[in-house]
Amino acid sequence: MNGWKKIDAAVRATAKVKIAATDTLGADLFTDKSDAEKQVVEDAAAINVLQDRLFAERKRALLVVLQGMDTSGKDGTVRGVFNVTGPLGVIVTPFGRPSEEELAHDYLWRVHAVTPKKGFIGIFNRSHYEDVLVVKVRKFASAEAIEQRYDQINAFEKHLTENGVTILKFMLHISKEEQAKRLQERLDKPEKRWKWNASDLEDRKLWGDFQDAYETMLRRTSTQHAPWRVVPADKKWRRNAIISAIVRGTLEEMDPQYPAFDWKPSDFVIE
Ligand code: ADP
Repeated sequence: MNGWKKIDAAVRATAKVKIAATDTLGADLFTDKSDAEKQVVEDAAAINVLQDRLFAERKRALLVVLQGMDTSGKDGTVRGVFNVTGPLGVIVTPFGRPSEEELAHDYLWRVHAVTPKKGFIGIFNRSHYEDVLVVKVRKFASAEAIEQRYDQINAFEKHLTENGVTILKFMLHISKEEQAKRLQERLDKPEKRWKWNASDLEDRKLWGDFQDAYETMLRRTSTQHAPWRVVPADKKWRRNAIISAIVRGTLEEMDPQYPAFDWKPSDFVIE
């Protein structure tokens, strides 16, 4: 078995996943920090080459979904894993509170509109899963409506995968203690203060409710076509190493090809 497959198997969510019993450190996945950092550099270079082939092929797309509590490292993952991927073929889309226009449509409307085109890697920083997470915890929609969404999301993602989009869903799993440290850093470090948002404290008070909503999400939407990975994210370097290994391995399995041509270079003379 390839190294990445072992890592992937270790972090796959099962239908019976218990989030409270799921490790946030993952110490046995990567033991050595500098080895892990070296691997991320190698993976990033490989992802860049594979992305170029995906872009040239223009037949398929990769969608990377990042979910996690505040401070779990969604932005950091984008920076850490995709920092050398050519910007032409990667599009990052953050999902914040829906606008009035978005709320006037069904909740998947704004999501489908920004799924990656053929040839692209699309990264969702938060996603349609907010509609069964914050929306559930804060009761922005009825329990009946939310209950229906799990199946609707599964059907939506099946539709995407059947139309050439490979989906990788990562839940960045941090402990409540680690979140406290990271929030405190946002107060203490001037260069991090811009990230401070007092409303994060309100969500923190609802930690248990959010964890329950995450657990239900993992159980109900971990499908064969789009399984969840629960990434231990208390250590940023390990989180990046796990995700870069899985992204690289997935792209290698997709094995995008440069297109074939019905002409030979010798058919042309450049004068
Ligand atoms: P981030 O916290 O990801 O850095 P923002 O400060 O823009 O970015 O926060 C996004 C906020 O939007 C989060 O609090 C998130 O819960 C909220 N949000 C995202 N999607 C929805 C949704 N569908 N309904 C309500 N709130 C949402």
